[in-house]
Amino acid sequence: MKTVDLIIPCYNEEESLPHFYAEAEKITQKLKTYQFSFWFIDDGSTDHTLAMIQKLAATDPRIHYITFSRNFGKEAALLAGLDQSTGDYVAVMDADCQDPPSLLPDMFEYIESGYDTVATRRVTRKGEPPIRSLFARQFYKIINHLSNIEMVDGARDFRLMSRPVVDAIISCKEYNRYSKGLWSFVGFKTKWIEYTNVQRVAGESKWSFWKLFKYAIEGIVAFSTVPLTLAAFFGILFCFIAFIIILIVIVKTLIFGDPATGWPSLICIIMFMGGLQLFFLGIIGEYLAKTYLEVKNRPRYIIREKK
Ligand code: UDP
Ligand code: MG
Repeated sequence: MKTVDLIIPCYNEEESLPHFYAEAEKITQKLKTYQFSFWFIDDGSTDHTLAMIQKLAATDPRIHYITFSRNFGKEAALLAGLDQSTGDYVAVMDADCQDPPSLLPDMFEYIESGYDTVATRRVTRKGEPPIRSLFARQFYKIINHLSNIEMVDGARDFRLMSRPVVDAIISCKEYNRYSKGLWSFVGFKTKWIEYTNVQRVAGESKWSFWKLFKYAIEGIVAFSTVPLTLAAFFGILFCFIAFIIILIVIVKTLIFGDPATGWPSLICIIMFMGGLQLFFLGIIGEYLAKTYLEVKNRPRYIIREKK
C-alpha cells in the first residue's frame, strides 16, 4: 500500500481546523488504497491551535504534529513538513479549506497516470480585495519578465508530489524560500488543475498587504538578478548622456562665452542622479541583506515539540 503524508501549516487556525479535518477525513476514507498520515505544523500560533491539534491527535493515530518555538512563516512550516515526511507521496495544503481536499482524488489519478507532481491554480480571484488582485497580477507580469523561471499566475501552494520531487525541494537549502519558484526550478512533469477560488471556512487571512508585498520582493530577489544588472545599464546610459552634454557645453561656451546660467537645471540633474544612485544602492542592499542571511545559515525553523 502506498503511503501519503498530508502537510498542513497552521497559524492561528483553531476555528478552521475542525472543518478541515472533517473534510480531509472523508476524502481519506474514500481513497482506501492509500495509507494517509496527517502532519499539522503549528507555526507558533497564539490561539488554541495546538490544543485543537492535540485533541484531534488523541482520536486519530494517523495525526502527527510539530509545533514551532515561535512564528517562522508558512514557508518554514512547509519545509518542516517536507523534512518530516517519509511517504511515497506528499500533499501540502492550507488549513482553511481554501485548498479543497475534494480535489485530492483527481490529483491521485493524475499522479498515478505518470505525472511527478500535480499542482493547482485558481482561475478566479473572486472574493479577494480588488487592490490585492491588481498587485498580484502585476507581480506575476514583472517576475515572469525578470526571471528565467516561469511563475504561474494564481498558482497555489496546494500540491501533490511524488518522493523525488519532495527530495529535490528539500535539497534546495536556501534560507529565503519562495516555494512557487522552487517548484518551477526543480521542474518535473507537472499537471496543472484549475479551480475557482474558495473562501476560507473560518478566521482571517494571515497575509496583510504589506506582508504580501515583502513576499513578492522576496520572490523577485530569490529568482532574478536582473534588478542588479539594471544598475549597470542605467550607469552606462547616463555616462553616455553626460558625455553628450559635456560636448554641448564646451561648444556652447566656445561660441557664446560663459554667462552664469543653468543653476536650476543643474539642481534638477543632481537631484535626479542622487535619487537614482540611492535607488540602486537600495537594490544592491536588498541582495546583500539576503546573502547575509544565507551566509549565517541559521535554522529555518525551531521545533518545540513533535509527535
Ligand atoms: N500560515 C502559516 N504561517 C504564517 C501564515 C500562514 O503557517 O505565518 C498558514 C495558515 O495557517 C494557512 C496557510 O498558511 O493554513 C495560508 O494562509 P492564509 O489562509 O492566511 O493565506 P491566504 O490563503 O489568504 O493566501
Ligand atoms: Mg487561505
